[in-house]
Amino acid sequence: MSLFFVGGNWKMNGNKESLGGIISTLNTASLLVLPSEVVCGAPSIYLDFARSSLDLRIGVAAQNCYKVAKGAFTGEISPAMIKDCGVDWVILGHSERRHVFGESDELIGQKVAHALESDLGVIACIGEKLEEREAGTTEEVVYAQTQVIAENVKDWGKVVLAYEPVWAIGTGKTATPEQAQEVHEKLRAWIRANVSDDVANSVRIIYGGSVTGANCRELASQDDVDGFLVGGASLKPEFVDIINARK
Ligand code: PGA
Repeated sequence: MSLFFVGGNWKMNGNKESLGGIISTLNTASLLVLPSEVVCGAPSIYLDFARSSLDLRIGVAAQNCYKVAKGAFTGEISPAMIKDCGVDWVILGHSERRHVFGESDELIGQKVAHALESDLGVIACIGEKLEEREAGTTEEVVYAQTQVIAENVKDWGKVVLAYEPVWAIGTGKTATPEQAQEVHEKLRAWIRANVSDDVANSVRIIYGGSVTGANCRELASQDDVDGFLVGGASLKPEFVDIINARK
């Protein structure tokens, strides 16, 4: 079984002083053997800072990147630049990119393909909106999003799939362990049917949306929950409890 995977997503929060605080908490915690693969998603301007100050056993992720290596794309960053900062991961398709910045499935697919070709690991995010859940279309929505990602992946060894129901992100309204397990199980079955048995057995499907130190253990006990993507709580010392959720 693959190692439990815990990603922190700092989003557009913090400064060198406050992020330095969470970094030193994590560095101290990592003196003990880490029970999970841990990756922190830093704002692009702080990627270098995060990589040079975090213990090397903790990975760093960019929160976005563009679909080509270089060129006249003012304000964007490329996977090659991310790699150049010693950073090995990127979060793509986050609901805020989809719904605040209007990124389409097609663009996200192109970014996934280019990031993987550039040898970055990809935390690929999917998830339904509240009205989609209420309309009973959760499966349809997450399968369609996963399909576009799958069409752009050759090597699943570098992909982590993050299921993040939009209604649970930053709202304090976590999916119940049963709701998370139900969708994760269906996603794994979809991957078995549409990709392969091997990928279904090995890919980590992580849950995101209001994960905290208080609810992480019960979520982590679900068979198909292989880790977390954590927003708000990744900026707090309780992130260490979340890293230890499966211990
Ligand atoms: P949250 O964010 O933990 O603050 O709900 C999760 C995410 O957006 O990845």
